[in-house]
Amino acid sequence: MSPELLRQYLVYYQDLGITTLYRRDAPQDQDSLARIREEIGDCRRCRLCEGRNKIVFGSGDEHAKLVFVGEGPGADEDAQGLPFVGRAGQLLTQMIEGTASKEGIPLLRKDVYICNVVKCRPPENRTPLPDEMATCGQFLARQLATIRPKAICLLGGTAAKALLERTEGVTKMRGNWYKWRDIPVMVSYHPSYLLRPYNQSAKREAWEDLKKVLHYVYD
Ligand code: URA
Repeated sequence: MSPELLRQYLVYYQDLGITTLYRRDAPQDQDSLARIREEIGDCRRCRLCEGRNKIVFGSGDEHAKLVFVGEGPGADEDAQGLPFVGRAGQLLTQMIEGTASKEGIPLLRKDVYICNVVKCRPPENRTPLPDEMATCGQFLARQLATIRPKAICLLGGTAAKALLERTEGVTKMRGNWYKWRDIPVMVSYHPSYLLRPYNQSAKREAWEDLKKVLHYVYD
């Protein structure tokens, strides 16, 4: 609608004696994971496309109450096109299913949604660069906005930086609640970090973080 037409409408309503207008947010176009995936297509938007085999979009339940966000695909994920299927992924699965079962929550990995900040494997598994995170981040934001989970669990510093725009490290942020838009967010360690033998005390902390999230979402 042109500004002139809008002005004419307003004058018309004013003439009818209407002096107060309430603005309602315009309804959002119905987004879906399938539509986002389709728009990503055979993506060439950043340099990460050069070395990838498969785009790793995400996996799990489109209506999940809980979403886990990692950093980016590794070699196994790049080969299979699925997130967290390598060693770190096996640990994540064990953590989700083991903790849920111990806490009396009937939950399997397929019931949550898992994705990453970037959808293509960075060379040598390096940390994604800011421009790569920004380019791919628009799709992550749309995935989260579509799923609208009850909570999000960010695994590691890259995911925390991508969604929370904070400068503290993971050690400081883990175990605490933040918000992405209006959705509660828990920050925890990345499972790859927990696989290193000298980080065993972090494992206990990660289990505590997960317990907190699971009870918040499923109690
Ligand atoms: N590390 C990640 O951050 N994501 C994966 O999908 C696998 C390993």
